[in-house]
Amino acid sequence: MSIGRLVILGVGLIGGSLALALKKQGMVAQVVGWSRREQTLQKALELGVVDRAEPDLAKAVRGAEIAVLGVPVGAMEVMLRQLAPHLEEQTIVTDVGSTKGSVVEAVRHVFGEPPPRFVPGHPIAGIERSGVEAAFAELYQGRRVILTPVSQTERHAVATVRAMWEGCGAEVVEMEVTHHDEVLAATSHLPHMLAYSLVDTLARMDESEEIFQFAAGGFRDFTRIASSDPQMWHDICLANRDALLVMLERFRADLAQLSDAIRAGDSDYLMQTFLRAKRARDRFCG
Ligand code: NAP
Repeated sequence: MSIGRLVILGVGLIGGSLALALKKQGMVAQVVGWSRREQTLQKALELGVVDRAEPDLAKAVRGAEIAVLGVPVGAMEVMLRQLAPHLEEQTIVTDVGSTKGSVVEAVRHVFGEPPPRFVPGHPIAGIERSGVEAAFAELYQGRRVILTPVSQTERHAVATVRAMWEGCGAEVVEMEVTHHDEVLAATSHLPHMLAYSLVDTLARMDESEEIFQFAAGGFRDFTRIASSDPQMWHDICLANRDALLVMLERFRADLAQLSDAIRAGDSDYLMQTFLRAKRARDRFCG
């Protein structure tokens, strides 16, 4: 595939890495970057993430074949509202937001009917660092990208966005919006809540210095994602609140049962739980 001009709106880890991947593959003639802070745009230019930095949104999107929204999910609606008057007929718009129901709702608030050339998307790739400085071209290699087109979405637009991600080395799957949010609540949003909550519990204990000094590999593995960007996760858990609350309640019930089993010295329950979990993890995570 060959893209003439691509504009990244919000040049951070995810948008920046997409730009770098497309450039590395020679799939794009020009990448234009727009971001709310001047220093981000300067950095993006310096690092070669974008070919042109454009602080004026109207100029940034002019002549773009594809526009990628790379901002936190809580900022999508404002971004779309600013973008709407400048969108040209030919531009395919996609986003990288971690929740899809909230983004589609934001699109409906701004446009009424979702425009046929809007393709909601979510790359299942990331690291716990953020910002354009953290962007790298290989982020999407061997990772999955979920597209959640709605009934109004043009198939040609979906095919274009699919080809863009496949060109970055990703496997693209399509999913229904609500199903995406339920699956991600279980596999990504719940684990982030557990990691943040555990580290915060320990950090507020009087002996926290000592606790963290003696934290070994297991603690690091389990809590790595608690170093992720707080603003991003604030936005995600509010945007996907319903699906996340279902998972949190379910987990809370299981945790209560585990406490009861420990209190009662219920060896069978403990062994069964740990064995089932080990088998499941070994099978799914290799
Ligand atoms: P990031 O590195 O922090 O970049 C966010 C970008 O959005 C920056 O360019 C920032 O602009 C801009 N931005 C932040 N708040 C804004 C606001 N209120 N209004 C307008 N622009 C704003 O974040 P990221 O990790 O790339 O995440 C971007 C999107 O990808 C999010 O929707 C997230 O849910 C999704 N996502 C993240 C991951 C992950 O693991 N990181 C994975 C998959 C999807 P300035 O720098 O100019 O302030």
